[in-house]
This record gives sequence, structure tokens and C-alpha cells, in this order.
Amino acid sequence: MDYSIARRRMISQHVVARGVQDQNVISVMEQIPRHLFVEEALQSQAYTDYALPIGDKQTISQPYMVAVMSEALQLKGGERVLEVGTGSGYQAAVLSKLVAHVYSVERIANLARRARRILDQIGCSNVHIRVSDGTSGWSDQAPFDGIIVTAGAPQVPDCYREQLAIGGRLVIPVGGADYQVLKRITRIEEDRYDEEDLLECRFVPLIGQHGWSR
Ligand code: SAH
Repeated sequence: MDYSIARRRMISQHVVARGVQDQNVISVMEQIPRHLFVEEALQSQAYTDYALPIGDKQTISQPYMVAVMSEALQLKGGERVLEVGTGSGYQAAVLSKLVAHVYSVERIANLARRARRILDQIGCSNVHIRVSDGTSGWSDQAPFDGIIVTAGAPQVPDCYREQLAIGGRLVIPVGGADYQVLKRITRIEEDRYDEEDLLECRFVPLIGQHGWSR
């Protein structure tokens, strides 16, 4: 099955028409075969603008949200980015074509394994996956030029601010269990951060020591 037409339609209807402008994000999303990141039975829905189940009660984020979050990182190329919540690996695949290295943390080993397999299959060798509680970040690899959290947090864990490079950006959904606000936090100086609210969103919970307990 050739999904390239469906993919182009997804980009024009759900990404460009809704205001995403970053040309690099748009062209990378036009290339990444999103259907490979969902179960075979759901592949025909991979290019609709919905989050889809990926097993273990988790979801692959909707294309619009992947685009918005990628754009919000304001990438120029060459960066090192931390992703919390590998899930299907789709967001990591998109980032892998935009930056030098993606460090992605997933708490569910099953999902991490599946993501690794697909990322290897499509040649995303600059994505480094670790199975652990990502609410502590990845201190060995810090600082990061960007941190993207793809699960909803009750508050911003301190370590994310600490693991940002000066000038680096953290994109994270923060709020209650039902909905969150997508925030961008920029580390302007050692001890100075700028904080912006971007939009309302809905993510599965960030579960861990500095997140939700369940
Ligand atoms: N970026 C993913 C979205 C996955 S949904 C994609 O493109 O498919 C969010 C993911 O965050 C889930 O897989 C969930 O298991 C994971 N997650 C939740 N809490 C976590 C934590 N503390 N550390 C690492 N991953 C976590």
C-alpha cells in the first residue's frame, strides 16, 4: 500500500491548514512513514488526525500535536534533544531528521523495544533509547538544546530546567489528568527562564517519581 498521498493530505489538512509553518518539520513529516508506528489493523487510520492506541494503554500522538511540539522546539539543526515518552517512536523519528541526536526515555520496556525495531528499520540510528523513569531526565547526557515531554505532567520537574542548555527550550504539557496546557520554557540565562502557554492539549499521564504516582 502506498501511503504517500494520505501522508501529503495529512500535512496539508491537519498541519499546514492549522498554522504550522516550520518548513523543516513539514517536509520531514511528509517523509516519515507514520503507518509503520501503529498496529497493522490501524494502519489505514495512521494519517487521520487522531491519537491511536499503541498497546499498554498508551497512544501515538496526533499528527498536529507532533508538528506543533516539534515546531515549538525552534530547531535549526545539529541539536541534542531529550524526549520523555518514546511510545511508538514516531515523534523520535521526526526529531531524528531535524537534529543531531535524540535521547528518548520510555518507562515501558515493551514499547521501547518495538520503537527501536521500527526506528532501525527506517534508519534512525541517531535515536538513543533508554528504559527508565524519564521524570528524572537523562543527566549523563545533559545539557540538552531541547527537551520534549510527550506525556502530561502535574508540574514541571526541576531536573528538566536544570538539564536545559542556556538558550535551550523545554516543551511540556502541564495540568490535570483530563487536559493540560502545552508550555514552552526557555532557559535565557543560568537562573532565568521564560515561560509561554502555547495551547490546550490532552496527553496520557507522565508517571514516575516527579510525575503522577499512577
Ligand atoms: N512520543 C510518543 C507518544 C507516546 S504517549 C509517540 O510519538 O508515539 C506517552 C508515552 O510516555 C507512553 O509511551 C508512556 O509509557 C510514556 N511515559 C509516561 N511516563 C513516563 C516516564 N516517567 N518516563 C518515560 N516515559 C513515560
